[in-house]
Amino acid sequence: MGLPVLALSANSSIKLLEEQTRKFRPRLVALYSEEAARDFAARVADLDVKVASGMDGLIAAACVDGAQTVVTAVVGTIGLLPTLAAIKLSRRIALANKETLVCAGTLVMSAAKEHNAKIIPVDSEHSALFQCLQGENLKSVQKLILTASGGPFRGKKRSDLLAVSPEQALKHPKWNMGNKISIDSATLMNKGLEIIEAVHIFNIQPDKIEAVIHPQSIIHSMIEYCDNSVMAQLSEPDMCLPIQYALTYPNRKPTPTKQLDLTKLTALTFESPDMDTFPCLSLARQAAQTPGTACAILNAANEAAVDLFLRNKLSFYGISDTVQAALENIEIKTDFTLDDVLETDKAAKEFSYNLKI
Ligand code: MG
Repeated sequence: MGLPVLALSANSSIKLLEEQTRKFRPRLVALYSEEAARDFAARVADLDVKVASGMDGLIAAACVDGAQTVVTAVVGTIGLLPTLAAIKLSRRIALANKETLVCAGTLVMSAAKEHNAKIIPVDSEHSALFQCLQGENLKSVQKLILTASGGPFRGKKRSDLLAVSPEQALKHPKWNMGNKISIDSATLMNKGLEIIEAVHIFNIQPDKIEAVIHPQSIIHSMIEYCDNSVMAQLSEPDMCLPIQYALTYPNRKPTPTKQLDLTKLTALTFESPDMDTFPCLSLARQAAQTPGTACAILNAANEAAVDLFLRNKLSFYGISDTVQAALENIEIKTDFTLDDVLETDKAAKEFSYNLKI
């Protein structure tokens, strides 16, 4: 018997949400869109379940009575307030929403410390690092090595990518993911956001985090220790494993993830990322090294630019151009509160949606 599911949330995949609601019988289901919440309430009118909407609905789901673990898997800055609300209740956070740490990592991690809330990463790379750290001391870490599949455009040059469509960018070779993260993988912004995420989760300087392209996606990340020993976590690329580990940690349980057949692997290869073709990675690194709200600006501008790209209103390189312009034009606050982060997020999104490039 697994743990009871007390609340669920989704923004799309309404049919799956209904199936899960019928199966797990949560007390509360939250949908961000009011219209979607109304439609969903009609679908489950025969069940004893409360349906909530908006930011209040997401916060209510994160704070539902009696929950021990909250999985935060919404996309974008929208995950910030519900995650902070759950942290204040000292819940374990299985964190799949990387934007929360990217835009407000310092505030989120200090709140987690203050309220004794454990943050367990779900992102496959950070889960790998977290697994490689068990029984080790963070002080002995020399370098974190984040692996990246390279996305659908690995090996391409800038001139090949000037006119790519959202459909081409959405075709990820290894992982089946949502639209926003698939585009972030195509631009390599995803790896940049993951560097910033790792800075906060592992309390380590960005210059001690390296990204390497590993197209087979078998090694999910590595840690180099001060004696030059490198520890890696390997498995078939399947999110079941990191999601489950965040729920069962420190225990392990069988998963549907296929066993790794080492004799079937022809090679495990590694290459440096092409920083000229994928400028988002250096922009993220630059933001990571800038104190203050630079990462919130990077994150918000990227969210807006990816949305525009997906709607055919911006070119592929329009994404990095937008992020760069936002970093150059929006004020970076070095001493900041949660309200400053929310204001910066809003300002950077408005700037990016109105930028004509
Ligand atoms: Mg990842």
